[in-house]
Amino acid sequence: MYRVDSMIADEFISDEEIRETLRYADENRHNAALIESLLAKAEERKGLGHREASVLLACDIPELNERIFSLAGEIKRDFYGDRIVMFAPLYLSNYCVNGCVYCPYHAKNRHIARKKLSQDEICREVIALQDMGHKRLALETGEDPVNCPIDYVLESIRTIYSIKHRNGAIRRVNVNIAATTVENYRKLKEAGIGTYILFQETYHKESYLKLHPTGPKHDYNYHTEAMDRAMEGGIDDVGCGVLFGLELYRYEFAGLLMHAEHLEAVHGVGPHTISVPRIKHADDIDPDAFDNGIDDETFLKIIACIRIAVPYTGMIISTRESRSVRERALKYGISQISGGSRTSVGGYFEPEDEDDNSAQFDVSDNRTLDEVVKWLMDLGYVPSFCTACYREGRTGDRFMSLCKSGQIQNCCLPNALMTLEEYLMDYASPETKAIGEKVLKEQLLHIPNPRTAEIARRHIEDIVRGERDFRF
Ligand code: SAM
Repeated sequence: MYRVDSMIADEFISDEEIRETLRYADENRHNAALIESLLAKAEERKGLGHREASVLLACDIPELNERIFSLAGEIKRDFYGDRIVMFAPLYLSNYCVNGCVYCPYHAKNRHIARKKLSQDEICREVIALQDMGHKRLALETGEDPVNCPIDYVLESIRTIYSIKHRNGAIRRVNVNIAATTVENYRKLKEAGIGTYILFQETYHKESYLKLHPTGPKHDYNYHTEAMDRAMEGGIDDVGCGVLFGLELYRYEFAGLLMHAEHLEAVHGVGPHTISVPRIKHADDIDPDAFDNGIDDETFLKIIACIRIAVPYTGMIISTRESRSVRERALKYGISQISGGSRTSVGGYFEPEDEDDNSAQFDVSDNRTLDEVVKWLMDLGYVPSFCTACYREGRTGDRFMSLCKSGQIQNCCLPNALMTLEEYLMDYASPETKAIGEKVLKEQLLHIPNPRTAEIARRHIEDIVRGERDFRF
């Protein structure tokens, strides 16, 4: 049975509907007339359903594939302009009671160094992150009710928000912790989190059960229904994702979009972000042991098709991916990237040594945040450290309606430029600063409303003079 508005995972992520979708997509992968009509519909920038988008993903006609990529690029520019939101992960604890076969945190791994940060250690990490220039974090933990209970996560969030080192501040803490109860989601909301992020890993139930053989994460329905509980607990920004490589990518793609459709149908708002991680080498994990790895071209096509299907949903790529893949992914849909990331517990203050490895996976893009910021500007993007929407309460459906009406442009670009100026003044290397000042001048001309542009110009002058108020 397939019911988008059901609250039961097996119904809103219906295996039968996904298989039917994949059959339909396969039958139509050479159907130029249908694909043309889907592209025409997608040009209206209102998105596509999972079946329609699955046909685009399956499309086997080179000229039409080119059009898919170029439309994704246009939609990306229309909705996000040149802005790219910056963030960094912060690993609090890698204790874990689960048995996820792709993750080195799994409970049977006896040689990974187990660590959990004390509040003092969190301070050191946050100061290191602030000194790089970060304003937005994604908290990461393994699942362990004893070593990493919800109270520890809540205390850590309070600690992070309380630290103001020099001009630094973490203004948005997103949280990527295991599926939990409505009550705990409510507590996270009260603690002032931004987005609650949880990767589905795979929507294929049978594979899910095998890939998560032991521990609380084994419960597929509890995990898949987590976003509904988060929304019931008052969190209106949720971030979805699958770990590509575990199952057939087309199955995951359809499942991901069905999940988004379900959240929109039941809660009136789809996911705030979609992440696209691929399995990486890690302590005792060999990505080649998984049969469903995808090549870079397929990966980019998935990103392009997600962009077309859900134009309003932010898309995140991490340092799991190399500089060159990230560069291409930015063009077709990615709106948020991490920079200067460490995936080890305590790795910002004290970089890992070989014998004391607590990292979750190997990072492919090892550049510093300053290098990433400069690279983005060299490519014509505006790195944004803005968190204003969240701070002004523009979350959930309020954010989505601004986005859908196009009004977000008048609001996001000035904020991005002001936070970029803060970064340039406080943290940038001389080369980055020189390029940044040029970018700022040019981009101020792109703010649609002249009055808003004038206000932004004045605020930027204030920032240069050292007069700050933390609205962003
Ligand atoms: N423990 C939390 C949970 O149960 O959902 C999530 C936090 S975990 C630190 C973040 C994500 O890293 C996981 O959801 C998984 O998708 C991803 N991950 C785990 N092992 C990985 C690997 N070998 N390569 C790439 N990503 C991996």
